[in-house]
Amino acid sequence: MSHVFPRHTKANPPVATQGDGCYIIDKNGKKYFDGSGGAAVSCLGHSDPDVTRAIKAQVDQIAFAHTGFFTSEPAEDLANHLIEAAPGSLDRVYFVSGGSEAMEAALKLARQYFLEKGETSRHRVIARRQSYHGNTLGALATGGNQWRREPFAPLMIETSHISACYEYRGRRDDETAFDYGQRVANELETEIERLGPENVMAFVAEPVVGATAGAVPPVEGYFKRIREICDQHGVLLILDEVMCGMGRTGTLFACEQDDVAPDILCIAKGLGAGYQPIGAMLCTSAIYRAIEEGSGFFQHGHTYIGHPTACAAALAVFKKLQGGIADRVMPMGSKLDAALKDAFGQHANVGDIRGRGLFRGLEIVEDRGTKSPFAPARGINKALKKAAFEAGLICYPMGGTVDGVQGDHVLLAPPFIMSDAQVDEVTDKLNQAFKAVF
Ligand code: PLP
Repeated sequence: MSHVFPRHTKANPPVATQGDGCYIIDKNGKKYFDGSGGAAVSCLGHSDPDVTRAIKAQVDQIAFAHTGFFTSEPAEDLANHLIEAAPGSLDRVYFVSGGSEAMEAALKLARQYFLEKGETSRHRVIARRQSYHGNTLGALATGGNQWRREPFAPLMIETSHISACYEYRGRRDDETAFDYGQRVANELETEIERLGPENVMAFVAEPVVGATAGAVPPVEGYFKRIREICDQHGVLLILDEVMCGMGRTGTLFACEQDDVAPDILCIAKGLGAGYQPIGAMLCTSAIYRAIEEGSGFFQHGHTYIGHPTACAAALAVFKKLQGGIADRVMPMGSKLDAALKDAFGQHANVGDIRGRGLFRGLEIVEDRGTKSPFAPARGINKALKKAAFEAGLICYPMGGTVDGVQGDHVLLAPPFIMSDAQVDEVTDKLNQAFKAVF
């Protein structure tokens, strides 16, 4: 009998015993292609010898030293590399153990920044309906997805939710993609004015929406308008690149493709590529200075922040990404996109195929003409996940929330090391899953 508290208490998952490049092998010897990198984590695939070597070397030297007393060489090196590559005036890094922790740190830093400046009423957060920012209470309150939030509602901080930039669902036939982007971005201005700018501290968004909608990129100009509105009203822009960052969309930071820089940026998942649990929050020099010149102490912290072994793993991952592996994302992403469009472009139940780089989504609909989703009771995403798993493909089907209407999608986020033949393997196995379900 297992004493591990599983994700679903009625599930009986296979035991993962080995990783091998793009594959996970279970105790019975079954091989699965890791088509979603878990949840957009394993960007280098499994058992990369350079990363495991770096971890072993760090553990031999010193595995852990508490940041209340020490910094460490891997933390300092990793921060230097990240800041050198980061957009805008981001220039300080706060290391944590995952995405939710990065978001909590971002929210608390934003609040403390305004307190240090004497703008004490700024506490409200605006986010988007199609969004997930983590499962701890602050991050959960920020995310838009209702089914996760509702049971915990009495414990939540108050957050407003506006539309995400979701062209497939939101653009009217009579408007251009650009005009649509401006229209939905302007919802932010309306909400800031409704709340009173003096009460709003931050707007939070994923540059490319991940788990809640399936790799939905913004239209051109959307984030520039968002940045403009934030600046006009003194509101901080927090970008959550926990899922779409670290090269996943074809640039190290996803927001580079939208030509905007945030005040605070959160990363995790691909940062450690699954070799160690690590996340990070990056902030601008202006925010850091306000704390430095104010109380001098960011009122936050966890035991494992800046964990030397986690930082050493992430540093090795970073070097591999910069050493050429990240350059594979754009060309392989185009190949995957073409293969998906070839295999599913005419499928009666696939309404949209989208994404950037190796972050791809298929939106499942009951009717392509009306775009109406399947009723949640049909459990389409769960059936697809199961059928794909049986076919030896790990993908990430989810039921998102489309302005209150439940919809299904499949998210793909394969390792950057995937080959041309493996592009075909993914589409073939996904095809088997679709044939089993539809
Ligand atoms: N933000 C985004 C965009 C995510 O996709 C996730 C996790 O899926 C998180 C935050 C939370 O990260 P973690 O699960 O590491 O706490």
